[in-house]
Amino acid sequence: MKCRVCGETASIALRSHKTAFCDTHFLIFFEKRVQTTIRRYGLIRAGDRPIVAVSGGKDSLSLWALLQRMGIAADGIYVNLGIGDYSRVSLEKIKAVADAIGRKVHIFHVPATFQRDITEVAKVLRRAPCSACGMIKRYVMNKICIEKGYNLLLTGHNLDDEAAALFGNVLYWKKEYLWKKDISLEEDEGHLSRKAKPFFLCSEREVAAYAIISGIDYIYEECPFSKGAKTITYKNILGSIEESSPGTKLMFIKGYLKELEEIKRSSPHEGFRGSNAGTGYCGACGYPSGGGLCGYCRTLEKLEIPYSAEFEEYG
Ligand code: SF4
Ligand SMILES: [Zn+2]
Ligand SMILES: [Zn+2]
Repeated sequence: MKCRVCGETASIALRSHKTAFCDTHFLIFFEKRVQTTIRRYGLIRAGDRPIVAVSGGKDSLSLWALLQRMGIAADGIYVNLGIGDYSRVSLEKIKAVADAIGRKVHIFHVPATFQRDITEVAKVLRRAPCSACGMIKRYVMNKICIEKGYNLLLTGHNLDDEAAALFGNVLYWKKEYLWKKDISLEEDEGHLSRKAKPFFLCSEREVAAYAIISGIDYIYEECPFSKGAKTITYKNILGSIEESSPGTKLMFIKGYLKELEEIKRSSPHEGFRGSNAGTGYCGACGYPSGGGLCGYCRTLEKLEIPYSAEFEEYG
């Protein structure tokens, strides 16, 4: 197999694009694709001050490093859940990338604020760890944006993540979520920053190849709570379909985005603003909530801990 550009031996075959590349030309191809996505969907605009939600995994660290290569300066935000070695190693990898690209990272330590790790917080709330984690992450990520003046939160969600989530929503006809997923979400009047996913059209395999070829040292282990998640089953199912019909995942997601654009065009006032729009605001901290106290303030109240949301700044 030869590289499509230079004819040297290819190191990666991309069946969904019916092509193959050597390391050098794969990096160029990948970066160009991300750049095109950013431009096509207006993900990053002139004057933006973006921040990347980093986890220590391949997706977020690749995105962070790639933006720097593209000349887009972005700091990072990391939520330390206090999950033993997994959280410790993740933070080490994040700090190494922060040093390499010369950007700072804001770190929110769950154990420092809640006096216990995410497993214990979830137990007190009688929720699954992922549910407590999602609530805290949403809160602190928006908080850092508002406090430090970042107007755009970027995440490393890739094509496989989005296809699996969409597949689950279609499978169970979760109409309330179906059209809320988008490649970007507009801001909500100064309360929630804009959000965007530049890897929306890049497969997990492509992102992993990008990380490995460009020497980004990321944590291979997944969060221990991700084991057994339904999305992993959906990813496997979509993986087998992709195996026999390369390009299906990309078609699924591109078709979805096209439909969504159509819906937004034909019903501009129907509230297709994704899940970024709040319905009310927390009486204690002013954060968007469904009414009364927000989840973050309710958790602190339950634990009898006074309000705080402190960040460590590294770099
Ligand atoms: S898998 Fe881990 S990081 Fe992901 S939502 Fe669950 S607890 Fe949070
Ligand atoms: Zn080549
Ligand atoms: Zn609140």
